[in-house]
Amino acid sequence: MTDNPFRELPSVTDLSRALWEISSEVSPRTLTTFAQQHLADVRRDVERGAILSREEIVQRATMALRDMSRPRLEPIINATGVIIHTNLGRAPVSHAAAVAMSAAASGFVSLELEPDTNRRGGRMREISTLMRLLTGAESTLVVNNNAAAVLLMLTALASGKSVVVSRGEAVEIGGGFRIPDVMTQSGSSLVEVGTTNRTYARDYEAAITEETAGLLKVHASNFTIEGFTASASIEELAEVCRRRGVPLLEDLGSGALVDTSRFGLMKEPTIGERIASGADLITASGDKLLGGPQAGLIAGRADLVERISKHPLARAVRADKTCLAGLAATLRHYAAGNELEQIPVLRMISTPISDLTDRAGNLRSTLHGSSDIEITPAQSTIGGGSLPGQTLASVAISLSSTAESVDMLARRLRMGNPRIFGRIEHERLILDLRTVLPEDDVLLAQALSEAINA
Ligand SMILES: *Cc1c(COP(=O)(O)O)cnc(C)c1O
Repeated sequence: MTDNPFRELPSVTDLSRALWEISSEVSPRTLTTFAQQHLADVRRDVERGAILSREEIVQRATMALRDMSRPRLEPIINATGVIIHTNLGRAPVSHAAAVAMSAAASGFVSLELEPDTNRRGGRMREISTLMRLLTGAESTLVVNNNAAAVLLMLTALASGKSVVVSRGEAVEIGGGFRIPDVMTQSGSSLVEVGTTNRTYARDYEAAITEETAGLLKVHASNFTIEGFTASASIEELAEVCRRRGVPLLEDLGSGALVDTSRFGLMKEPTIGERIASGADLITASGDKLLGGPQAGLIAGRADLVERISKHPLARAVRADKTCLAGLAATLRHYAAGNELEQIPVLRMISTPISDLTDRAGNLRSTLHGSSDIEITPAQSTIGGGSLPGQTLASVAISLSSTAESVDMLARRLRMGNPRIFGRIEHERLILDLRTVLPEDDVLLAQALSEAINA
């Protein structure tokens, strides 16, 4: 160390040369920029009093370059037991959907041309046809996500007017999505009716005026209210809406197309049931229980969907060709009746416990090492704002190591190839097999064996 701490800073040329030896995937020009930026950061740290040797500076740069060279969005193994995991990208799509998305991404597609006539045609035609078949909705518009769907629906139908919402449903869904704020953003005003725990159809009806653009129901996706509660049914509200000539809108959230009570879970309302019960429009996410790519669906009455499609905001939030290709492929599984086998989210929900026990046994038998490894019962959750508080019995591999802390063990698995994310419970690392794709079991076994024998 010298008196002048900046003397330890290597030159840009020296640092880029040193980095060139560890990564030839970045061009020399980019490497020079990388070195300049890295040295600027180090200089700032030194100004703040950090004392770094030349070796440390080069080593830090090397680590930063390695980190940058590994794609952040490479596939990982989700062994957390949370099926629709927001931080891990929500629903993985089916193989067919992934193939369709990849093909649409890398080539040209007849997105807005009717292939038979070469005339201009709507980009939503395929999805609309499939959705009508599966849910009875006359027409469907697809946008970026459900947050955009709600914002667009309210902006196009209710800007400058008011929307009636139950006090118990003027909620925050998560990630800054709050119904009152979205209403403000849409230029519509919120008329809250009823109380937090009880709202009746007559409360809605009493609030309808000339200014009312619609009634909005919001599905409680991420919380439950128990005890002395009452809410108006869709049928009752549909009757009020018909009589008073205002549309009934519902933000349904998870977009279930199958009845989840078949799997021992509570029933999540399906899009088809809500349309049949008289909702004029529903909005839903594509990547929750529906099990497709990130998307927001606005489905229901054709005249309303058309009005929304023509609003300038629709263009700003519209879905791209890869999303539409993936969503169409996902809907085709439902049409074919093989959704439980093909769509990962539904396959995970419906996997019998005996399958998980068998897979855990196979996995356990491939692992030998210094760690303590057990097969243990676990509880998976649906996650992603669907079926709050509901769990599914599962089977997990439970690990601990005498040589290191459970946090270190978890970190090593997260750093592996592929990265494995589990959860820590009672000082043990739990790897829940319900959320691991069965085709990833071999990769999981390999990465696990490397990690525990390292
Ligand atoms: C999840 C959810 C949203 C937000 O949907 P994104 O697809 O995440 O934008 C909005 N409303 C409800 C009721 C939800 O469950």
